[in-house]
Amino acid sequence: MSIDLDRFAEGLPDPQELEPISIGECENNSCGKELYSDEYVYRGSELYCSFKCMVAAHY
Ligand SMILES: [Zn+2]
Repeated sequence: MSIDLDRFAEGLPDPQELEPISIGECENNSCGKELYSDEYVYRGSELYCSFKCMVAAHY
């Protein structure tokens, strides 16, 4: 009995190998989290990792 591994060898590329593109850091100084193109909130030219950080930086 043999186990067929071919479908693993030819599978789709591991998504973790794709380097996310950093677009900057959260403007909230107490956070400073790295931001990626699919997860950020902006206010004018300021970028934040979340709505919560945006509010915290301004109020
Ligand atoms: Zn943040």
